[in-house]
Amino acid sequence: IFSGHNLTIYYTKVEKNGIANIGKCLDSLYLSKEKLLQISSLMLENMKKGLGKDTNPTATVKMLPTYVRATPDRTEKGEFLALDLGGTNFRVLRVKVEEKNVEMESEIYAIPQEIMLGTGTQLFDHIAQCLSQFLDKHYIIKKTLSLGFTFSFPCKQIDLQKSILISWTKGFCSGVEGEDVVLLLRDAICNRGDYDIDVIAVVNDTVGTMISYGYDDPKCEIGLIVGTGSSACYMEEICNIDLIEGNEGRMCINMEWGAFGDDGVLSDIQTEFDLEVDRLSLNPGKQTFEKMISGMYMGEIVRLILVQLANQHLLFNGITTPALMTKGKFETKNVSEIEDNTCGLAKAKDILCNLNLDPSDQDCIIVKQICSAVSTRSANLCTAGLASIVNHIQETRGLDNLKTSVGVDGTVYKKHPKYLRRLPQFLQQKLAPDCDVNFILSEDGSGKGAATVTAVAYQLAEQRCQ
Ligand code: BGC
Ligand code: MG
Repeated sequence: IFSGHNLTIYYTKVEKNGIANIGKCLDSLYLSKEKLLQISSLMLENMKKGLGKDTNPTATVKMLPTYVRATPDRTEKGEFLALDLGGTNFRVLRVKVEEKNVEMESEIYAIPQEIMLGTGTQLFDHIAQCLSQFLDKHYIIKKTLSLGFTFSFPCKQIDLQKSILISWTKGFCSGVEGEDVVLLLRDAICNRGDYDIDVIAVVNDTVGTMISYGYDDPKCEIGLIVGTGSSACYMEEICNIDLIEGNEGRMCINMEWGAFGDDGVLSDIQTEFDLEVDRLSLNPGKQTFEKMISGMYMGEIVRLILVQLANQHLLFNGITTPALMTKGKFETKNVSEIEDNTCGLAKAKDILCNLNLDPSDQDCIIVKQICSAVSTRSANLCTAGLASIVNHIQETRGLDNLKTSVGVDGTVYKKHPKYLRRLPQFLQQKLAPDCDVNFILSEDGSGKGAATVTAVAYQLAEQRCQ
């Protein structure tokens, strides 16, 4: 037995050396409670750095003010459009915000890889074109439409409607860093000339997710995304945010925790597989924490481990196939499938056969263990991050016990059979025992959130005009 991973099931079949090597590999992914507590306090240190005026410029965790000050109070109403860019899918939504509920229709549009890696103009022209198609399809002919834009990348917001892209993450790499994404969108729409929109608010998906739950649960003051990428936001006391003037009230901070570790503070937990994932990524040296957590990378980590174990003759009779050797061929969705308790092993067989491998039952068991080690580490790291947030909120409010809710969205959280249970378990039992945290899973937090923020902003704008 290696720290927390029980390998006895196949002890009799794999040679002792083999066990040691597989164990070593699983061990390198294991994080003890002490280690997680240490990571959590490091995260908190970095959050404070991000919030401080003098320390922010060199901070890795950017703690970006979002200009979202209030959670919705249910008086906002209206019909809005929303765009959701930066997750697994690009979507356009029409959202009706009413007193009691939010109704939505949406369409998914593909963004071809050459556009994700092309120029900013190509990307925004494409978005504008999808929006035009959506308007046609849904017979929307109103002259000027109010739109909320969920843009899930690190941005320096100047206000709700002005958002300067700091850097691309995940699969995007389209230039235009340093430019206002609302202007880019407006220009693209203007160039078409077939419709007009009024961009009322830009939000990060974490913020959208938090806000969209504010309707049902006013205690929802944390948003978490574990999807293609990962980040979190929460309501911070304005007096703690050096970059925002004033001392009253709270503002939502988009942490951009994905960049945690970019200065090397996580190097002791990075495995050789993490380093390789980073090296092969679009943004080497960036998004260290995200690359150990999110869906864009989890499958790839597993694949690299399988390659190594096969090369060491510990899996697949020592055989690797061109498919197994190809980046991206083992997907995070496969990790979720294999970890299913009822049909996971059969799925493992299918998935590995599809990579032209000929796995034994033994191989399938080992592969399942590896998937579980990688996804458990991901959930544990997320939990460490969340623990920093809730412990920090509890401390700043001087509470003995904090009762709060986290709105969660993202493909990993939603599709993985165990993630949903692991987060609260780890948090409550290990890392934040004095906090009573309720996890709420969204029906589409980021899209709905954009519309909700738009409704709030729209209402504020109207009040200002009156
Ligand atoms: C982005 C964040 C986003 C997260 C989840 C990260 O790569 O930097 O802005 O919230 O992914 O989509
Ligand atoms: Mg999303």
